[in-house]
Amino acid sequence: MSFETFNFDRTIMAGVRALGYVTPTPIQLQSIPPVLQGRDVIGLAQTGTGKTAAFVLPVLQHLLQRPRGRIGALVVSPTRELAEQTHETIGDLGRQTGVRSVAIYGGVGMEQQLRKLRQGVEIAVACPGRLLDHIWQGNIDLSHVEVLVIDEADRMFDMGFLPDIRNILRCMLQKKQTLLFSATMPDDVRRLVHEILQDPVTVQIGHAAPAASVSHTLYPVKQHLKTALLIELLRQTKTESVLVFTRTKYRAERVAEQLYKVGFKATSLQGNLSQYRRQTALDDFRSGRIKVLVATDVAARGIDVLSISHVINYDMPDTTDAYTHRIGRTGRVDNTGEAFTFVTSEDGAMVRDVEQVLKAKVERRTLPGFDYMAPAPKSPFVRPQFQLRRRMA
Ligand code: AMP
Repeated sequence: MSFETFNFDRTIMAGVRALGYVTPTPIQLQSIPPVLQGRDVIGLAQTGTGKTAAFVLPVLQHLLQRPRGRIGALVVSPTRELAEQTHETIGDLGRQTGVRSVAIYGGVGMEQQLRKLRQGVEIAVACPGRLLDHIWQGNIDLSHVEVLVIDEADRMFDMGFLPDIRNILRCMLQKKQTLLFSATMPDDVRRLVHEILQDPVTVQIGHAAPAASVSHTLYPVKQHLKTALLIELLRQTKTESVLVFTRTKYRAERVAEQLYKVGFKATSLQGNLSQYRRQTALDDFRSGRIKVLVATDVAARGIDVLSISHVINYDMPDTTDAYTHRIGRTGRVDNTGEAFTFVTSEDGAMVRDVEQVLKAKVERRTLPGFDYMAPAPKSPFVRPQFQLRRRMA
């Protein structure tokens, strides 16, 4: 099966070739035909499956036949990174089509986005909050949008964007087609699907479980030894790019600093960074200048780096969905990947849930030569006499 079977315009095929795509991925095979027919589609697929091209290609085809200079398709994304990446994919695949897109997200000034809107675009890829700002200021006209794409819908709901999405929907008077992509189908998403999609075709890739090309391993460890274990593990493991997840922004920053201090090309990606620094961190990670990126769940959303060989959960995620999303960063398309998860005595229930989703017991491993009995370092912030008193108490 090749891309020729979809009969895309030659300008679109030029983009497909430029990106080196030869065979459509399963999500592309199954969703492109109904999207081209104008059907509503629910795509149950995690990132890494090729879902972006699955909607970008038929949307480009649709827009080729529409008047230029007004927005005919809107892609709603939960995070700025995902919005930026989708915008870039549109740029790459659509380079010869003349179809233009704009990425709209907060954390940066509005002027540049406004300028692009004024110059005329056919696709807007937007995070809900900033999109509403533009709508309220009268900067953007969604009245000609015919295709709406809601990407990573489950994450969008986790982040509380449902009311925003309802407001955005009210501005689309000519919407003819809705495509909704989600790794999982929680009740909130199901309700929205019933409300806004008409007679949708459901395309499911896998079972919202982590990609089969990823192997999973647990590393039981005491909380205070996690950073030492991470350093040792990275030293002993042959890796390409590595994505490390922590529960908090602060921890992401600290862990990245500690890795950097002992010689790893590491940095952090978390919500405390300015947009410029986030973009630099992402670009450096993508180009390979940075080998280890330490991130929080929200910040890492949409990271698309094919060479990620390892995802390391420094902290256990809070939900199995979050586990699925994190692990979706490795083993993308044809690559294989490894997922290492540090577990403490408090993570027992979550481990069981993850094993249920994976339908398998996950291997527990210890790292040869690592001192698992090392004592907790004394906090430099606690005065010695207080430490003594604490020990006596
Ligand atoms: P996505 O799931 O959309 O984030 O895509 C994951 C990665 O797969 C991206 O780097 C895409 O460029 C790549 N990709 C998408 N479709 C194909 C394809 N048909 N063949 C090879 N790579 C692809």
